[in-house]
Amino acid sequence: MSRAYNFSPGPAALPAAVLAEAQAEFCEYADWRASVMEVSHRSAGFMALYEQAQALLRELLQIPDDYAVLFLTGGATGQAAALPLNLTAADKHDKGGGAAYLISGYWSQRAADEARRFCQVHIIGDSAAADYKTLPAVEELPASAAYLHYADNETVHGVEFPAPLVLPSLSSSPAPLPLAADMSSNIATRALNIGDYGVIYAGAQKNLGIAGVTVVIVKKSLLQRARKRGDIPRVWDYQQQWQADSMLNTPPTFQIYLLGRVLNWLKQQGGVAAMEKAHREKSALLYAALDAGDFYIPYVRDAASRSRINIPFFLAEEKLTAAFLAGAQAAGLLGLKGHKALGGIRASLYNSMPLAGARALVDYMREFERTRG
Ligand SMILES: *Cc1c(COP(=O)(O)O)cnc(C)c1O
Repeated sequence: MSRAYNFSPGPAALPAAVLAEAQAEFCEYADWRASVMEVSHRSAGFMALYEQAQALLRELLQIPDDYAVLFLTGGATGQAAALPLNLTAADKHDKGGGAAYLISGYWSQRAADEARRFCQVHIIGDSAAADYKTLPAVEELPASAAYLHYADNETVHGVEFPAPLVLPSLSSSPAPLPLAADMSSNIATRALNIGDYGVIYAGAQKNLGIAGVTVVIVKKSLLQRARKRGDIPRVWDYQQQWQADSMLNTPPTFQIYLLGRVLNWLKQQGGVAAMEKAHREKSALLYAALDAGDFYIPYVRDAASRSRINIPFFLAEEKLTAAFLAGAQAAGLLGLKGHKALGGIRASLYNSMPLAGARALVDYMREFERTRG
């Protein structure tokens, strides 16, 4: 048996070279005579791995010095709570202290629901009426808000904002709102101007590594904003975590080590620019196949809203879905079952998915259509 092409939405495929490297280093790392998982997070050895991962992320994403980089636990779901706790000035009963949320699908909706537990949430645009098949427009900005949250790529619905995020009505507001972006499924897949953002967060298990570590990039001028009422758990306090090198408690050491290995692999592949080119090619291939006839139905038809990373689609004859998925599995194409919120099929084309994987999927789709259609 050999490794298949894995289209899993997350946790997702890792580069085989990284897995082999981790395997070789698993029982004993370098000259430590112990594994990465068995040493103090404060040891010189582990701190060097931590610093390497920090430096690689800064280099790959061109993160300026006035941004803090945190490696936290709790996933993107934890960050959906940490964000309002850190950046809003008042609790949910105080109308002055809210935040603006743009709703483009499943994950931005969930983030807004979580924030509502901690602050006033102003929905400034929502594409629910379009079943999240197109990106929402910003309808109205609140008079005061601590930040504007959106999901840069909707992993379930398969819509993605163009980079940079186009928010025309924002430019007319007196002071620009800090943008807070959930980039869990598209971080390091295209060039970014980090300076455009207040906060970026992403769980590692899609494009950067394995579940258990979450990358948070915060503009340092926002670190002071925490409510400071003593009611934020310290592990969720951006400023305290920054001062403690993300080690207010024991950090996920193996996850941080593996993050460093994946970042190193990304650099060897040509960095974010190479990923961006590959994503353009992979997604173009799959969308062309989906648009070629009426056997397959892409969920998102609007070209300007389409995700380059997560592509949900259906079979016109829905009852063939199970056969499609079983055949794919047998052909070495894994993880294609759609999210429970949508059903159908979803192909996730994260950084470690090669162009050959997208080609293999398209070949299988043509063959399935020819024999079953
Ligand atoms: C996967 C995902 C999440 C949830 O991440 P967890 O690490 O499970 O909390 C949130 N937002 C987006 C866009 C995602 O793709």
